[in-house]
Amino acid sequence: MKAIISDVHGNFEALTAVLEDIESRGVEEIICVGDIVGYGPNPQECLNAARSFKLSILGNHEEAVMFRAGVRDFRVRAEMAIEWTKKQLLGNGAAQNSLKFLHSLQESYEDGDVLYVHGSPRQPLRDYVYPKDVKDQAKIREIFSKVTKYCFCGHTHLPGVFRDDGTFVHPEDLPMGVYLTGSERVMVNVGSVGQPRDGDRRSCYVTFDGDAVVFRRVEYDIDQTVKKIYAAKDLDRSLGDRLRAGK
Ligand code: ZN
Repeated sequence: MKAIISDVHGNFEALTAVLEDIESRGVEEIICVGDIVGYGPNPQECLNAARSFKLSILGNHEEAVMFRAGVRDFRVRAEMAIEWTKKQLLGNGAAQNSLKFLHSLQESYEDGDVLYVHGSPRQPLRDYVYPKDVKDQAKIREIFSKVTKYCFCGHTHLPGVFRDDGTFVHPEDLPMGVYLTGSERVMVNVGSVGQPRDGDRRSCYVTFDGDAVVFRRVEYDIDQTVKKIYAAKDLDRSLGDRLRAGK
């Protein structure tokens, strides 16, 4: 069984809680589909943890840390957080290892009939695919033209399953959070570990055994993370407030 996580965003309390949950479930491989850093107060710690994963995919926040041009569609508070993140990563002895690790990340990875990307198969780093996008059948068709059977992604921080018939399934509509796959092709958004935005402030990730995708939610010490965000002058306070709201 694999665990697929995304959008950790420097939230070490959330990542630690999720990794404990993963460990309790007999998972063999952890795959992260991007945005380990950005927004949150512990980029270095999260990158260190990510080095032990089976695979990590490049996210737009990693790209923005490495390349100036990567921040082109960032809002002010996200860009400030990237500048702050760079300072944290460059200001310590582990900087070289972090940079080497960031440069080793690929935009997409195909393992048999499973594709891993951050945004979507159309544009791995930038494409946002929201649940409401099922109304845009051309977009959904184009996405699925690049999916053999399974695709796992993150980026919007909104978990759920897109199916090739142009429908979207919310995890809360699934019995016990379990989606049983059949002959259809699916793109699964695994949600966010470190900054959930679907109204549920608990960390989100999925496990996958080749048939069933299970959406899992994990409580973590939000107060601790929020305290660290408030204490970092260049991290906007709203980045802490939104963790409490899950939005
Ligand atoms: Zn993200």
